[in-house]
Amino acid sequence: MDRIVAASRNKHKLKEIGAILSKFDMNIVSRDDAGIEKFEVEEDGVTFEENSFKKADEIFKLCGEITISDDSGIMVDYLNGDPGVYSARFSGKNATDKENNDKLLKLLKDVEYKNRTAKFVSVITMIFPGDQILVARGECPGKILFEPVGLNGFGYDPLFKPDGYDKSYAQLTDKEKNIVSHRAKALNKLERLLSERKTSKKQI
Ligand code: IMP
Repeated sequence: MDRIVAASRNKHKLKEIGAILSKFDMNIVSRDDAGIEKFEVEEDGVTFEENSFKKADEIFKLCGEITISDDSGIMVDYLNGDPGVYSARFSGKNATDKENNDKLLKLLKDVEYKNRTAKFVSVITMIFPGDQILVARGECPGKILFEPVGLNGFGYDPLFKPDGYDKSYAQLTDKEKNIVSHRAKALNKLERLLSERKTSKKQI
């Protein structure tokens, strides 16, 4: 079984990503579990792709093992795509989910429902020793609600209603979120890329 070192410490992300990797005989460990604790990656890119690559690459340079990273966030049309790559620190460097959600609600205070369109984005990067890099992007369109609804999940989950559902992300079960979410879509693509990789390895 291959060990895959995740750039993330977020338990929600590790669980969602780990479920897919296990299908390929791969076992995900957090970077803390790989002994990379006192290290922070500066997320100074302006796209999800840049930050996702940077996270996977910097951890790869430290451990030399297969690494995986997810960079994700929410893009709100009324805010011209903000908070985007700044989602985690929307209201400051060590902002809590509540502070970020409060800021978003305040900025959209006078915006009517039909104009509260948004999308969640996830870009997953996997780096293998020998220079192979896999990149998978997933998006989930939806609307920003007027107040937090639901208790599951993390981040902006209580404020986001995916299109086609009359529930927020935070009201969905793990199983439901893993069908519709931006990360689930990125992981579906990653699954395809890993299957192709497996096939081409066999052919060599
Ligand atoms: P990252 O860890 O730099 O990728 O930051 C991602 C941030 O985007 C998180 O801190 C959340 O605020 C938000 N985010 C990303 N994915 C989700 C999700 O599935 N639900 C809710 N918020 C999310």
